[in-house]
Amino acid sequence: MIPIVIIGGGASGLMLASLLPAKNAIVIESNSKVGAKLLVSGGGRCNVTNEVLSSSNYLGDQDFISNVLRQFDQNALLRWLEARGLELVYQKNHQYFCPNSAKEIVSVLVKDSSKQTILLNEKVIDIKKNNDYFEINTTKQIIKAKAVVVASGGLSYPVLGASDLGYIVAQKMGHRINKLAPALVGFTLQKEQFFMKELSGSSVNNVEIRVGQKSCIGDLLFTHKGISGPSVLDASLYWEKGSITIDFLPNFRWKSIIGSKKNISTLLPLPKRVIKSLLEHLNVPDKTFDALTKDERDRLFGLQNYSLAPAGTFGYNKAEVTKGGVRVDEVDSHTMMSNKVDGLYFIGEVLDVTGELGGYNLQWAFSSAYVCAEALKLN
Ligand SMILES: Cc1cc2nc3c(=O)[nH]c(=O)nc-3n(C[C@H](O)[C@H](O)[C@H](O)COP(=O)(O)OP(=O)(O)OC[C@H]3O[C@@H](n4cnc5c(N)ncnc54)[C@H](O)[C@@H]3O)c2cc1C
Repeated sequence: MIPIVIIGGGASGLMLASLLPAKNAIVIESNSKVGAKLLVSGGGRCNVTNEVLSSSNYLGDQDFISNVLRQFDQNALLRWLEARGLELVYQKNHQYFCPNSAKEIVSVLVKDSSKQTILLNEKVIDIKKNNDYFEINTTKQIIKAKAVVVASGGLSYPVLGASDLGYIVAQKMGHRINKLAPALVGFTLQKEQFFMKELSGSSVNNVEIRVGQKSCIGDLLFTHKGISGPSVLDASLYWEKGSITIDFLPNFRWKSIIGSKKNISTLLPLPKRVIKSLLEHLNVPDKTFDALTKDERDRLFGLQNYSLAPAGTFGYNKAEVTKGGVRVDEVDSHTMMSNKVDGLYFIGEVLDVTGELGGYNLQWAFSSAYVCAEALKLN
């Protein structure tokens, strides 16, 4: 029997291999083990999904994303994992994690996908389509397939096996690729904000970063390279170039410090080191609020509206995901099949769908794999 070939044994490829009937598919993985990225995800505990899920948590075509998520949403995923003995733990920000370690979800997927042939240490180099079948050229052999599923992920974290093969295959088969860029990643700084590097190791809780129409709330971390932390990572998803605005004190009411005899650095709810440095940068003397001139107060209010233009990002080596990818208007959201080449499918991060922090990218990998599996089962 001519098999289905799945390129990539990551989150989406393993889920697809698990869902297909036994002995139907060959998974080709360039690493020496499957699920390498899953194992390091969520700080080693894998943030698998989120209780609050909709297309608005993603950058990409909203209708396409809704169509796919609807067919296998967070509840369907939780049930699927529970049926295999893995009950996820609910944590802050509506996130679901593995109880102890990401190894738990990887072993569920490995067990379920072991009914297929899994080829390790074998890299796909090229694909050709003849009349009725595909020829997959790997570092070891040429494999014939009746269908090919590109589940090769994005460009981030090359040390974990990331390659551009998915994009190359897509282009070769006539698909267009939307601009690729690292996302869910820290920002490097321009000279004007180099003072922030001196704050390396400090963090601020619950800042609000505005990028265009989007507002990203979460902690901000100062690092020796620039700024990072959940709010920054989410902001990087929506940032193209130009300025972002940081509110270091969302919900803070200036009224509450009028009349106080204490200096502002002791009254503002920010770490001492951070507020001292920000005041210096904004040229605001550390006095009582009442003693500040109007101009000094106006500069102080800048803490709630601090504009900075990142120099760039920390790049693919540090990015959790790649934004951009295979254009979804050339893929069918009911099957994940290419509209250009019969039998060619795309799932997971290789597509131009990128989720926010919080389990959304793995949910996407699993939902798109499910939709593809249902379509392949009918063929
Ligand atoms: C450090 C880190 C932490 C993360 N944490 C989370 C999290 O907690 N929650 C969340 O939702 N998302 C998280 N993500 C993102 C998430 O892991 C990815 O979006 C998801 O794994 C994408 O699934 P995928 O199947 O598309 O690609 P991948 O899981 O990357 O799998 C692609 C596979 O294809 C293989 N491959 C590539 N090219 C070839 C080739 N030519 N031949 C053969 N094999 C090939 C790769 O080796 C890889 O194993 C994290 C990412 C990183 C880097």
